[in-house]
Amino acid sequence: MSYTILTGDRATGLLHLGHYIGSLKLRVALQDDHQQSILIADLQGLTDNGHDPEKVSGNILNVMADYLAVGIDPAKTNICLQSGLPALSELTMYYANIVSISRLERNPTVKAEIANKSFGNSIPAGFFTYPISQAADITAFRADCVPVGDDQIPMIEQTNEIVRKINKIAGSDILVECEPLLSKVTRLPSVDGKAKMSKSLGNTITLSADEKEITAAVNKMYTDPNHLKVTDPGQIEGNVVFTYLDAFHPDEDLVQELKLHYIKGGLGDGKVKNILEECLQETLRPIREKRRKLINDKGMLLEILKHGTEKAVVETNKVLYDVKQAFGLNLFI
Ligand code: ATP
Ligand code: MG
Repeated sequence: MSYTILTGDRATGLLHLGHYIGSLKLRVALQDDHQQSILIADLQGLTDNGHDPEKVSGNILNVMADYLAVGIDPAKTNICLQSGLPALSELTMYYANIVSISRLERNPTVKAEIANKSFGNSIPAGFFTYPISQAADITAFRADCVPVGDDQIPMIEQTNEIVRKINKIAGSDILVECEPLLSKVTRLPSVDGKAKMSKSLGNTITLSADEKEITAAVNKMYTDPNHLKVTDPGQIEGNVVFTYLDAFHPDEDLVQELKLHYIKGGLGDGKVKNILEECLQETLRPIREKRRKLINDKGMLLEILKHGTEKAVVETNKVLYDVKQAFGLNLFI
């Protein structure tokens, strides 16, 4: 057991191939020799969906089914629900007093997300302050390692700033600083190559996509627009089919051979797409089949989540106790 890990996803939709390659595969590998907690972030999902709460509540068990279908094992990984852990919201309130508005405004990830989401003058306060709540999530599990995409690095930096400030107030190291663990693929593009695959952009290939949807997605996939004839030399950069082959195909040597052939000329898009399609069908078939059974047993999914959340209540309350102690506010205990 080398690290305590906290990871999670916003419950705002079905998980997709970006999640699979960016974090889920890594979590499945890590659960054998790390103490891992996964937080289904329903409250964080609400920060830009307050007007549409069903989008969040209706997706919690979908995310659970996705986790179990890819191989997250609840006996090894504790899966819990953010809204079931009052300590997280309380910690957020304590931390909010030691983080300035200008520091939040400087967070590059939030800045970029605000620009993308066209909130206008109505940025929800919960969205603007979500780095504080994310710091509460990480510290409440005493996580020293957080597997993330590179977009999340500013959150880790901000979390560690909060840790140092609280430890200074406490006069001892009651909170633990964390390190990011970067995944190999942090921004799987959508099939048109225009943006990152993302739930809110509606450009995903979900883990429950059926065979036809996978075929259609690969057919639509952006290649090299100047590769008109099979004999033309082709370009790999920006060619989504090769980006996906790099991300998903288990045979790296074959992918390398295909690249060289494509660059030289003589390899058609159709042939490369067939290889990718077969690979994606093989990746998603067992996940889809497992998931179909899991989602039909909502009672079982809920039971696992309830059990994991109960365990996490105990764990996170201990950290809350320490932080309240630092502020001299455990008056009734
Ligand atoms: P939303 O649209 O609600 O923001 P999303 O599809 O962007 O949803 P998130 O829940 O924001 O998904 O992502 C959680 C984590 O999943 C990210 O920090 C990242 O590690 C991983 N992830 C999401 N999308 C991708 C992607 N396209 N490529 C690689 N990793 C991804
Ligand atoms: Mg996102």
